[in-house]
Amino acid sequence: MTVQPIRLFGDPVLRTPADEVVDFDRELRNLVRDLWDTMRDEGGAGLAAPQLGVGLRVFTYACDGEEGHLVNPVWTSLDEETQEGPEGCLSIPGFSWDCRRHRNVVARGFNEHGEPIEIQGSDLLARCIQHETDHLDGVLFLDRLDDDTRKQAMKEIRQATWFDGAVPTLKQSPHPLFGAR
Ligand SMILES: [Zn+2]
Repeated sequence: MTVQPIRLFGDPVLRTPADEVVDFDRELRNLVRDLWDTMRDEGGAGLAAPQLGVGLRVFTYACDGEEGHLVNPVWTSLDEETQEGPEGCLSIPGFSWDCRRHRNVVARGFNEHGEPIEIQGSDLLARCIQHETDHLDGVLFLDRLDDDTRKQAMKEIRQATWFDGAVPTLKQSPHPLFGAR
């Protein structure tokens, strides 16, 4: 097992945009394995490299019966449909809040060997792709919540046993609500 500790909300690495992967080497494959093992150990639907303290554009996912990893991902929505539903994050453990996302997306990127791949996802998988790609831009799903929900979320987080009291960095208007198109 190569389970690694997960960085928690308040850690600046979660607010730092990650770099494009340039070298598809053994180090990258080790990172993908660490992401995979840690995600599985925690029972998560997805995990992005910054959550392990690594500033590279890579995430793993396992939801809706689909699983794998994506390097240098770029996603687009397939239509105007949105979904509102509970979302959580391994870096904000123990909580979930309703978050609006696109319902149908396609993500393009590369596998660990540098071969181009494409994932098409709806519902949970689409939510996962958007959530994990946000991590690579230093964006957390808290930033996507409506104002009232975000205030409530921050109140709950401040009382969480794992929260170390560091001044939280919430981006007020980070990016367009719905990423690239
Ligand atoms: Zn997350």
